[in-house]
Amino acid sequence: MEQDIVEISKEFRFTATHHILNRLGPGEHEKPHTHHYRLIVTVEGAIPENGMVMDFSNLKKIIEEHAVYKLAHKNLNDILFQPSAEHLAVWIWDWIEAKLPVYVTLKKVKLYENESSSVTYSGKKKDTAHTCSCSHMRGGKSGY
Ligand SMILES: [Zn+2]
Repeated sequence: MEQDIVEISKEFRFTATHHILNRLGPGEHEKPHTHHYRLIVTVEGAIPENGMVMDFSNLKKIIEEHAVYKLAHKNLNDILFQPSAEHLAVWIWDWIEAKLPVYVTLKKVKLYENESSSVTYSGKKKDTAHTCSCSHMRGGKSGY
């Protein structure tokens, strides 16, 4: 059966402090500074009889409780190691994915560190680099 599958998104803003270790070289850390983060979480699902993939207020509650409230006004270095926007997006994903109802799928966590810099996480993917040690690849015998 074909269904109408729709992505819905909810946006949040929060302020938090962080610093990146070794950013300026080994042992040379950034100074702690504050960002006004903008977070957009997208989930996907079929449109049921009530017309809503997921109630926006329910989605909001889950993301606030399991991500935004844990991060807002915090020193992010106390919460996760090397709290780059990339690590934060994965951290947010991991917290909220398990809390979402079964009828939606988490599709995207997009986190803006400022107006023009954002990261997007869409869940784990296979590393595209070929890292196996089979003999026909890098590190193996040449001659193929
Ligand atoms: Zn920063």
